[in-house]
Amino acid sequence: MIFLGRKNIDVSRAFDHCNQSILYSYCFSITATFSLNFAATFQHGLHNDSVINKWIQRTKTEDLCYLFVDEQSDAIEAVANSKDEAYFNEKLKIQSCYIIAECIAKPARSYNPVVSHKASLRLGKIAVFTPVDNNKIPTYHFDFAPYNILEERTTKPRRLTDFIARVDELKPVENRSGKLLRKLTIQDESKNTIEITFWKEKLPELEDKPLLGNIVAITATFVTKYMEHIQMQSTDATTVTVNPPIPQLKDYQNRFSTIPRCVASGPSATMTLADILARNTSQNKQTRFITEAAITEIDDQHTWYYTKCKVCNKPAHLQHGHQPLFVCEDHKGPEEANIMYCVNATIVDQTLNANAVFFNEPMTMLLNIDCKDMVIKHQNTNPRVIPDKILAARGIMCSMNVTMKNDGKFVVNKLTKCQTLSPNTPDPKKPTKQKQLQLQLPPDDDVLPKKPRH
Ligand SMILES: [Zn+2]
Repeated sequence: MIFLGRKNIDVSRAFDHCNQSILYSYCFSITATFSLNFAATFQHGLHNDSVINKWIQRTKTEDLCYLFVDEQSDAIEAVANSKDEAYFNEKLKIQSCYIIAECIAKPARSYNPVVSHKASLRLGKIAVFTPVDNNKIPTYHFDFAPYNILEERTTKPRRLTDFIARVDELKPVENRSGKLLRKLTIQDESKNTIEITFWKEKLPELEDKPLLGNIVAITATFVTKYMEHIQMQSTDATTVTVNPPIPQLKDYQNRFSTIPRCVASGPSATMTLADILARNTSQNKQTRFITEAAITEIDDQHTWYYTKCKVCNKPAHLQHGHQPLFVCEDHKGPEEANIMYCVNATIVDQTLNANAVFFNEPMTMLLNIDCKDMVIKHQNTNPRVIPDKILAARGIMCSMNVTMKNDGKFVVNKLTKCQTLSPNTPDPKKPTKQKQLQLQLPPDDDVLPKKPRH
């Protein structure tokens, strides 16, 4: 509902009964109470989720868009010129309530509307925003679509779709022809599974959220159909809320607790550490898994590298000369010994902590320094003193190919760093465990562009 003057009038009804010119004369008297709702932005560095409630719609012209929700939980899109973003940033704060006067009502966008409202608001510099306290106005707006109407959404006007589901699978970030993307498999309460693609701009929406196994409200997705399969993609307006603050959340959680996770079999499926542990102790013995985790601690009770003679594989002995050299007791020659990482560490994901051993290849991938250089060039010859460069790898989220030993220890055979577009600003309110998961860029040699911290 929008309050037109002192009378409650639904904007969509105003559209049905007025012609455009009459409407315009009405429009200037529109006074509405709304609360801004939900975070959606593609700006780097701004991922204090649910703080920002605007997005830039990158169509032919760039629009600055807001989603407003009123006391009746009706939502309407408001659009301003993106060149005036700084001006509106001063006027409108996300998750705050305002009385808005002097805005213009227009028909809602005909392509990819975010909400079903027939009208939208145009905000300009004559608009007046008066902040008010109104705790009756919800701070969220979801209009979840049931699975059976998704097919309709693949045709024009292609209304964007809010969907509630559980995240059953989280694939690593991938680079497809130069485009970064990440795919999630979600399952709804009727056991329909959908693959949803998050494009580069929306990868920050997924960061640092305990997605796997949890219920998520995903808004403003673009529904497509590929080979009879319904799929979804993120849009500029997409937000992701884990365990959304809706009254029905408990019911959803109860219903989902009886639905088995849909994890694709085969080595491409990413599993949590807890899932791997559960699967490995069950009858179904699988040996290779892919998981996503970060190192939290390096074990300094174990040595972090070892050496082998290239001829006989016996350990080589460190000789300090002009520069450190590893020699075999049986073989003399120009061939140096192999120097390889074997780092014992604690890894963590959102489900548990586990012990893991990182052999040479994954550790080299993680550090971007080969072990020989680490030992000789960087002068870290003591295998019992963990080099700072290894300690600095703590907290980097990685996709790891792992096997599991009988004692429950993970062996990491292969590793790729999860690509992060912008490092997170540390949030002092977050619990320590989450903090440990915050992504860090290693001090040097990193392939990723460094972004300024906000
Ligand atoms: Zn030898």
